[in-house]
This record gives sequence, structure tokens and C-alpha cells, in this order.
Amino acid sequence: MKAVRIHEFGNADVLKIDEIDEPKAGPGEVTIAIKASGLNHLDVDVREGISRFPVSFPHTMGIEVAGDIIEIGDGVEGWSIGDRVNPYVMAPCERCEFCRTGRESICVQPGFISFSTGGGYAEQVVVKAGQLIKIPDSVSYEEAAATQVAFGTAWHMLFARGRLSAGESVLVNAVGSGIGSAAVQLARHLGALVIGNASSQEKLDRAMELGMDFGINRLDEDIAARVMEITDGRGVDLVFEHVGGEMFQASLDSMSKDGRLVTCGGHAGEVVDFDIIPFFRAQKSVIGSFVYTRQEVDRCYELAARGAIKPLVHAAFPLEEVADAMRMMERREQFGKIVLTS
Ligand SMILES: [Zn+2]
Repeated sequence: MKAVRIHEFGNADVLKIDEIDEPKAGPGEVTIAIKASGLNHLDVDVREGISRFPVSFPHTMGIEVAGDIIEIGDGVEGWSIGDRVNPYVMAPCERCEFCRTGRESICVQPGFISFSTGGGYAEQVVVKAGQLIKIPDSVSYEEAAATQVAFGTAWHMLFARGRLSAGESVLVNAVGSGIGSAAVQLARHLGALVIGNASSQEKLDRAMELGMDFGINRLDEDIAARVMEITDGRGVDLVFEHVGGEMFQASLDSMSKDGRLVTCGGHAGEVVDFDIIPFFRAQKSVIGSFVYTRQEVDRCYELAARGAIKPLVHAAFPLEEVADAMRMMERREQFGKIVLTS
């Protein structure tokens, strides 16, 4: 089968389409024929060698897949050949204190697709049956490959970690990204006031169509000043942050007293200075968020199946054109997700 592998770290030129053996499901596992695979910014970090995940060469890229079960290992119950599935990106241990208390995304010894198993930029992958999540009939493979990481992450950040309530206000950074556009939709669905920022008017216009109330162009407006203007000097209850660098401080300055900032990323600067004094005097909170639970993905699929949220596929590329797909993501041209198809 075909698999996109890297044999060294570097730019998109290091991506190789290799012919490798098909994987075989062991006990408790299934083999999935991959129909669509979502691109994530983590993939760029992995390819460049800065992900802080363990990578050994050759490494098959990709963590987010949608496809059909084509082989079922011994001892697997409840799943059939032909089931349309989207495996959870993690393979939790199911035994540690966090797994036993519904906090599987912080499992102490998790597996991850492409790190502990084959990767998603391929024609097939083997996963544990416990990772399987069913795709509703009304959601296409391409949409499914654009759902889990974007909406699951946004759900976990907004609701589980950020405790966003109806009637509260939220600032969503980088609304054009996969998780940003998902956060706009979920926060709007809940009934929050949604303020978002982006680097182009076109992305802001798209987010307004998704229900965003106010847009801020970060290239020609001061984010915190504009947020204060919109909220009559109060600031927002929650900031949905995943950018890092200067955006982190602008986010802190956009929060209300007793406001929360929830973060899951920092591509624009992973280590930042922040001013401690106004932070504690206003009783602000900074909250970390990592991945999401299988149950949260199920909830996102329920909303997608009844049209309450829309998985956004910006572009689909055949597996062979993976380099072009990654370059498009690195230029940050997309609104929503880019997927590979096979
Ligand atoms: Zn665990």
C-alpha cells in the first residue's frame, strides 16, 4: 500500500510516497481502509522535528483518519466489516487514574496514531477496537476527517476546560483555522457572544457566516483595545487561544476580571513573557487543554448529523499530492480543514 513517510526532518520536500506492506490486525484490533485523512498543524511540527513527540524514521505521517473497517482481529466485538469509522487519535491505557475517571486525554501512557501505530497519510491503518468512533451516515468521509481534531479540541477547550456558558462572551483567536472555525460554531450553538480575529477580511467574513458576532482584523486593529470597545470596557469571559507569541499577551489583555484563558497551542511562540501583576489582581485564570474525549467527539458528530454544526473541508488532495496540501496549510490560506483522499 501507499504511505506518506519521512526519512529525515525538513520542509515539504522530505515527504516520500513509499510502497509498504499492508498492516495486519492483531487481537483486539481492526484494519481500516482510509478514505480521507485530515491535515493538522501538528503534522508540520512532526515533519520539522519540533513536535516534542517521539519520532523514529521512517515515520508515517498523519493522525486523523476516516474510513471503512476491512479486517477484524480476534476478540473484537460490536464492530463489522464495512462500518464507517473515525478512530480516536489516542489509544488510552484504560487503566490509569485519569482513564478511570473520564479524563482519557491525559492518560499517563497513551498510544497515538502515527506514533505508536501506522499513520493516517496512508491507504490503511490498524487501530485498537477501543479507539473506534462511528461516523454518522449523513457525514462524508472528507467531513469526518475534518471533524474530530477541530471540533473535539474546540469542544474540550470551550466546555470541559473553559466552562463556557450561554450568555457569556468568548474571544476566538485565528477563526480561519480548523479549531478556530469549529470554536465559532460550537460557541454560537451554545448561545455565547462570539468575537473572533483573523489576518484577513475574507476569513472574518466566512466566520461571520458561521455566526460570529464581531470580527477583528489583527493586521490593522489592536485586538485587546477592540475587544474592550465591543464589551464596553469589560473584556470577555473566555479566550480561546491556540496561537501563542504576542497573541497570548493580547489575549490576557482582552479578558474580563475573573476571566479565563484556555490554550492548546503556541505555534507563534511557545515560551512567552506575561505580566503577573495585572493577571493576579484581576483574578484571571490560564487553563491548559489537551485533545478531547471519545464521548466529546460523539457529541460533535450528533450535532453534525443534525446540521447544527458544519465540518469545513477547504480542499481535498489525493495522497500523492501531500506536499502541495501541506504547503497550502503552511501558507495558512485555508478556512477550515485540508484533507487527503485515497
Ligand atoms: Zn490511561
